[in-house]
Amino acid sequence: MSFTIIVFLLMWLFQILFLEKFYTHSKIRDVDDAATRILNSFEIDSSAEFSRKMAEIASENDLCIEVVDRYGRSLYTKEFSVDCLIHGKENSIYFYQKKITDNYNKPIWLKVPNPHNNYSMVLFGCALGDTENPSGYLFINTALVPVGSTVTIIKRQLLFITFILIVFAFIISLFVSKRIARPIDRITSAAENLAKGDFNTKFDGKGYLEVKQLAEALTYAEKELSRVDTMQRDLIANVSHDLRTPLTMLKAYAEMIRDLSGDNPVKRNEHLEIIINETDRLSLMVNDILDLSKLESGRQKLEPSEFEISSKLSEIIGRFKGISEKMGYSIHFIPDEKCIVFCDVVKIEQVIYNLINNAINYTGADKQVFIRQINSPDGVVIEVEDTGDGIESEKIKLIFDKYYRSENHKREVVGTGLGLSIVKAVLKLHGYDYGVRSVLGKGSVFWFRISSNNVKNIHNREKNVDKNCQ
Ligand code: ADP
Repeated sequence: MSFTIIVFLLMWLFQILFLEKFYTHSKIRDVDDAATRILNSFEIDSSAEFSRKMAEIASENDLCIEVVDRYGRSLYTKEFSVDCLIHGKENSIYFYQKKITDNYNKPIWLKVPNPHNNYSMVLFGCALGDTENPSGYLFINTALVPVGSTVTIIKRQLLFITFILIVFAFIISLFVSKRIARPIDRITSAAENLAKGDFNTKFDGKGYLEVKQLAEALTYAEKELSRVDTMQRDLIANVSHDLRTPLTMLKAYAEMIRDLSGDNPVKRNEHLEIIINETDRLSLMVNDILDLSKLESGRQKLEPSEFEISSKLSEIIGRFKGISEKMGYSIHFIPDEKCIVFCDVVKIEQVIYNLINNAINYTGADKQVFIRQINSPDGVVIEVEDTGDGIESEKIKLIFDKYYRSENHKREVVGTGLGLSIVKAVLKLHGYDYGVRSVLGKGSVFWFRISSNNVKNIHNREKNVDKNCQ
């Protein structure tokens, strides 16, 4: 509406207040142009061509034109209006010719009232040829049409236009608010619901593309928030379950030692062993949570150093010797040529450890685990294979998520649901590729690749030569 009012004011200003000035100014300009054209093509013997041109100029601009010789005899005449000043009265030519002479033969501009009505007329006169000794004179006369009545008509039209524009502006505002503001209002109240924790809110993005995009972005945010929310619930469920169980056991065995087995060294040691194992389980969980939160907060920086990967793998596998001997697991290591890599040794150790730990936890009844080092042009690939049940393809996406644990995991499988999230966080921090190949009922292969730009030369002690392991 403000826009309409501004348009209206501008139109009022130009069409009504300045109309007369504009009109007079443009009429004078027309006369001036006509005079210039006539002066340019003036010939003393009025030729047919000159006459034709004069007629054209006169009719184009509603002008009366008179060209006379120095004695005032008419050479060319064109009377366009009945009210003409030059042709209207006898001797008028002599009257105006004298005015030019009195003005030292310089052009004259006169605004004279029309003798037949009260409106003005413009009269222009100038000497032709040399101003000292002119060969003739040119007179141009035109009437200034009264604009007063036109102004009244325009005023009325403007009132109509303003009214129509205001109605239009009102309709357009309604339409725009309906198309833009309403969907935004709807989305805002939906977002408020989402903020209150309703993850089933629908974001309706009817209307403009931008509104649709906003609705899509919010729907995506809602999905992500609901995922995080579910994961957090799972975390609380998992962590509280996993913490409660060892705590209950710690309490139970401590009470048993106090009340029953305190004096029986064999029983007491057995119970103490259980207490120690449960404490380990607890500290493992707490450490995992701390590690992951440090990694994910972005505060954890890499501290790369050079180390030889085959020996590192053997060393980590060695740590599982106790459990593999006790529980009957066979861990097979298939190394490649020795190779120096450059990465954060502590963190990569943790990745390898977590993968082997999972393979032991989830391998099949044959209790076989295979660890391979494969040197390739793209880098050094580490594979950890088990012969377990495998992982369904739709679950593969989830297992690297925090606190994801398959529903059917057993209590004896020590785990926090954080092992693979730590693996993912460390490998992402290094920028290494990783993944899983799994066949249901046959087992899974977890792998990652230390990228080639982090692989140094192979160190071959036997031959004492340095050779690139790629
Ligand atoms: P967890 O402590 O439960 O092992 P992880 O993050 O290490 O936590 O693993 C997440 C889930 O991925 C596990 O609960 C299990 O369902 C699945 N998983 C991990 N490794 C294997 C494997 N080698 N074979 C089959 N399933 C696996």
